[in-house]
Amino acid sequence: MMTSQQPDYDAIVIGAGFAGLAAIHHLREAGLSVKVFDRAADIGGTWTWNRYPGAMTDSESYYYCLTFSKELLQEWSWSKRFPDWKETLDYMRFVADKCDMWPHIQLNTEIVSADYQKDSGHWLITTGGGETYTCKYFISGMGMISEPVIPKIEGMDRFKGPLFHSSRWPQEGLDYADKRVGIIGAGATTVQMLPVMAQTAANVTVFHRTPNFIMPAMQKPMTPEWEKEIKDNYDEIVSMCRNHVFGMAFNTAGRNLADTPPEKIQQIFEENWNGSFRWVFETFDDLLSNPEANKMASQFIIDKMRERVDDPEVADLLIPSTDDYPLFAKRPPLDHGYLEAYNRDNVHLVDIKDREPIVEITETGVRTTENDYEFDIIVLATGFRAYTGALEAFPIRGESGESLREKWKKTSACIMGVCTADFPNLFMVTGPQAPFANLPTSIEQNVIWITDCIKKMESEGYDLCVPRQAAEEEWTAHVADIHEQTLMNQGDTVHSWMMGANIENHKPRVLIYFGGANAYYDRLRESVDGGFPEVAFERLAS
Ligand code: NAP
Repeated sequence: MMTSQQPDYDAIVIGAGFAGLAAIHHLREAGLSVKVFDRAADIGGTWTWNRYPGAMTDSESYYYCLTFSKELLQEWSWSKRFPDWKETLDYMRFVADKCDMWPHIQLNTEIVSADYQKDSGHWLITTGGGETYTCKYFISGMGMISEPVIPKIEGMDRFKGPLFHSSRWPQEGLDYADKRVGIIGAGATTVQMLPVMAQTAANVTVFHRTPNFIMPAMQKPMTPEWEKEIKDNYDEIVSMCRNHVFGMAFNTAGRNLADTPPEKIQQIFEENWNGSFRWVFETFDDLLSNPEANKMASQFIIDKMRERVDDPEVADLLIPSTDDYPLFAKRPPLDHGYLEAYNRDNVHLVDIKDREPIVEITETGVRTTENDYEFDIIVLATGFRAYTGALEAFPIRGESGESLREKWKKTSACIMGVCTADFPNLFMVTGPQAPFANLPTSIEQNVIWITDCIKKMESEGYDLCVPRQAAEEEWTAHVADIHEQTLMNQGDTVHSWMMGANIENHKPRVLIYFGGANAYYDRLRESVDGGFPEVAFERLAS
């Protein structure tokens, strides 16, 4: 029988990004009352936090969007192949307006704890302002790359100018024209940020450790003809994403490099060098599994990178060698002029790995073992605590009273990234051990699974969805087994966030399901069709 106490909401979601918007749509359609909280002053998630210059999607616009409404797909017009943060945010506001989602959203509200209540089977959610709310279903839409990693560098509080993490770019904007800027870190964020900042800053200095395989994005405007072609074929595009290993509207190559004559390989690489991650997935199907194929692809990228950097010493620092690590063991950035930015007189690269490690931050800049660098602004583009970070940032306590942070000390164990044992009625959108893929595709597939699960509970009168320990062990072993067979398992050697290897004093681990997003979406569907064998449905005693 149902609990006597009624919660404030059927479902509470934290995070008003793509996950929050998708959850509002699907749960509302299922007849539930839904409240979404977000600590930000706007919706948008990643796209409201990451307002740094040059921030844009690395997925192509027309499939980096929500697909639940054909009308939305037809009405919205993208201006380019890769939209910047502002355009993506405008799109999300358009969705929220059009679907009347705002009444469900409460902004400027930080959640500081979430506790499962054994007697009622509800979750008690507490805000930073001390308000409490209860719900039957508690859903994290907090994002898998949202909790920043702040490096431990001596003297960070001493610096007199603005110093902040790239994902905490001042919301009101920051005037960096004619200013001296220091950027610590050189991952995907810096690759986007540097070329834009270098255009107007007095100078920009990048403090760099590990080189990346950097591929060109090849931005281009949306033309009326291209837009028409997209809109005429949206059903197919959505289906391509759903059936692709990376959740993108890419074709599969249908051939392996291992079976291709050597003279054809370079030709195929060259013909497909058209920007985005397409190149990795549309040339050969074995680039991420066959070490030799991966080396040949890496070498092709290396040669392309070298053509674009004038100074050979700078090139040596920026460009990895095929012996360093496999392509995709670290997530490769997409480039909009990053490499060429180093050909400018006002851009400097500092090797903090081998030549001059950072010693401290001073009142006026950065001191390395060799030099003092003076800055007006310092940006920490030092990455994120991926997949688990947001879920561990405040206590989320389950049935035993243990928090997710405590539970995940050694292994970030989960069931398909959507739920975890000891946390009844807690659902996660793209939690740990889900794939790394085009996020809106994965988000929608996760929200559909969660909604289907809730619909079953509501229609059959269940109070609790209890994730099974055995299912968690099975999924965790399966994910680890697949991970072991891929080249991504070498990410721990190069601080890859994909293994949590970028976090100090943290044991690297399997965080991602690499068996293909499409196989994962199939598995979610099988779970729904099979009546959710990974969880037990229970009724509370009256
Ligand atoms: P990241 O790829 O993890 O890069 C962090 C950088 O900071 C690395 O160069 C790292 O060096 C350096 N670093 C970390 N700790 C440091 C320390 N204590 N001292 C000095 N350097 C340090 O982070 P990110 O660039 O923010 O990108 C993270 C992910 O976010 C991307 O891979 C991507 O998935 C996502 N992202 C997406 C987009 C997009 O799709 N449009 C844009 C930006 C980011 P090491 O490499 O040596 O550790």
